[in-house]
Amino acid sequence: MKNLLKKHFGYETFRPLQEEIIERILSGGDTLVLMPTGGGKSLCFQLPALTLPGITLVVSPLIALMKDQVDALAANGIAAAFLNSSLTVSEQESVMARARSGDLKILYLAPERIGSIGFSEFLDALDVSLLAIDEAHCISEWGHDFRPEYRKLSDLRKKLPDTPVIALTATATHQVRKDILTQLEMDASSTFVSSFNRENLHYSVRPKRNTLPRLVELLEEQKGESVIIYCFSRKNTEETATALSHVGLPALPYHAGLTKVVRMETQDKFIRDEVPIIVATIAFGMGIDKPDVRLVVHMDLPKSIEGYYQETGRAGRDGLPSECVLYYSYADKRKQDFFINQIENDDERQLANRKLDEVIDYCQNDACRKVYLLNYFGEEPQKETCEACDNCSAPPTKQVDATQLAQKILSAVLRTGERFGSAHVCDVLRGSNKQRIIELGHNDLSVHGIAKDIPMDILRLYTNELRKRGFLEKNPGEYPTLRLSQRGKSALVNNEPIFLSAIESVERPSQRKSGSDLDYDVKLFEKLRILRKEIADRQNVPPFIIFGDRTLQEMAYYFPRTEKVFSQLFGVGKRKQEAFGEEFLACISMYASEHETKERSIAIKSMRQRPYLGLSTTLQETKALLTEKQSIEEISRTRGLSEGTIIQHVEKLVLEDEGLSIDHLRPKEKTFEEIKEAFTLTQSAALTPVFKKLNERFSYDELRLVRLFLER
Ligand code: ADP
Repeated sequence: MKNLLKKHFGYETFRPLQEEIIERILSGGDTLVLMPTGGGKSLCFQLPALTLPGITLVVSPLIALMKDQVDALAANGIAAAFLNSSLTVSEQESVMARARSGDLKILYLAPERIGSIGFSEFLDALDVSLLAIDEAHCISEWGHDFRPEYRKLSDLRKKLPDTPVIALTATATHQVRKDILTQLEMDASSTFVSSFNRENLHYSVRPKRNTLPRLVELLEEQKGESVIIYCFSRKNTEETATALSHVGLPALPYHAGLTKVVRMETQDKFIRDEVPIIVATIAFGMGIDKPDVRLVVHMDLPKSIEGYYQETGRAGRDGLPSECVLYYSYADKRKQDFFINQIENDDERQLANRKLDEVIDYCQNDACRKVYLLNYFGEEPQKETCEACDNCSAPPTKQVDATQLAQKILSAVLRTGERFGSAHVCDVLRGSNKQRIIELGHNDLSVHGIAKDIPMDILRLYTNELRKRGFLEKNPGEYPTLRLSQRGKSALVNNEPIFLSAIESVERPSQRKSGSDLDYDVKLFEKLRILRKEIADRQNVPPFIIFGDRTLQEMAYYFPRTEKVFSQLFGVGKRKQEAFGEEFLACISMYASEHETKERSIAIKSMRQRPYLGLSTTLQETKALLTEKQSIEEISRTRGLSEGTIIQHVEKLVLEDEGLSIDHLRPKEKTFEEIKEAFTLTQSAALTPVFKKLNERFSYDELRLVRLFLER
């Protein structure tokens, strides 16, 4: 299977669960696969399809995607076709003839086909080895996307009683899952559930203030890459797209108010890398499957966590690091409240309110964002931090003396009678003259308007901080009203100084620049992208079908000069090597001779064991040199990185693999003992106290190295 994976798809290793699923299919069993978007579901049926004797039928409701999928398979040398209403009658006949003659390995079908005239006879003439049902949640009325035609699948199943079935979906609650199993008469033991953690996605929430210049900065970092920006209103999509285009960031709006033709054109330009940025309402994204979207921005609050996860899931399907940024302001809640209040049905309105509160909770949460999201979907993450969200990767927040402001907030809670939520308290502090405030006489309180100069969202964040630090607490009961805790009372009465995290620190720079962990040559990468686009246009397919970004990045890193080395790159299978190898090699070779660059050894690459979810490439390279017993200094020289960075790598590697041999890095015994003693005396793993204790005689790097051994 691994050989086929490399030969046809150019990948070295399977992603989680793919191998198990494929094994199950090949042993003739049925399978239900729940995997997040971008998890690699298609490969689970495409690879077995190649070895099974007959044809694999794939039912999918996403007609617009079929052509791309078939083109992608064809680019890998796999005989595939599709049957849907976009084909002329004679085209359909020719596809059917190819299927009957045994010429096709994979045939995509729209669900409408199944009940159509003549389908049964067509089916009788085929030797069907596998039936794949994509977007299987469409079979359930409980799902968010029920398609009545999917119900016909149980008839199809009956017509092919001995053919194994694989049903796949990215969204399924227990109810939907059960429904799929019942409708398709499958047993539950055949269900594979993959983690919904998308490790390559970095999540962050940033304050929504002065947003446009910040957005421009963010986009400048990603210039030329594919980006989706979601806005709440159609008007905002248009305005933002125009503003961005004016500052040299070509962007197009996309929303349901545009004609179908314009929408199709916009989508097509995006897929073909002709316009990098789409500013859209949530109408955008359903029918696109672009693997290299590097950034998804939400300019406004999403309506629910489910929606948010699905929308951000459109980033980084190719497994490369990508970012999801949400601009948050509490004021946005009001905007949405307005629409929610117009919902007439009580249950629906309450549900919408609850969903929105969950989103607010997510934004204000200062623990790991991924843990929050995964918990939300009922998954227990193994770690409590992810290093892939702003909260986990943020440096410890700066503390500021917030005594005055804290006293104002605490007083306002007290004076309003300790029976209101933070929204009301902050309204009073800001001097609002809302009807409710006047009715309650809160405009006459001494605290009314004493924090006028502080923006509402900042005030709310400070109030929230006070609650988290135990100065305020929630009253018992259903509503989130606040009162002073003992600690809060005593701080107020005794005029104690109160230190809080600086709110400005919410504004964290993105920790990880999206793109790649490979330190590739950006100029060559750009040239290769142009070449990819030329070839794609020539063949009338989207560029990612030729090669994904990862493959181009590896080209711009390894500078392959021979076919042999080229064939080892990620995403280069036999067919693509034959079809495109020469052109890409020529481009690399020309660039390399102009810039006097040499081919980089690809030997290190084979050390990689888990290219998708495992160590980043830079760590893998350090690891490779470490296993050759190179010293920190040597590795630093070979890699052109500082010794400090290499030690950091070693720290991470040791965490990943406790058995990793690093004995050759152990400092001299005298040094070791001296530093060890200092660590013991300070009774902490912190470096600064030890550094001071030893009168700054040893460098931080030396201390870290010793600490590594002490922690083993
Ligand atoms: P899904 O259907 O689950 O959303 P896809 O099947 O479209 O995901 O796969 C997402 C991307 O991952 C595709 O570009 C696919 O080629 C790639 N992919 C799938 N399996 C692997 C693998 N084992 N190694 C590397 N890339 C893979």
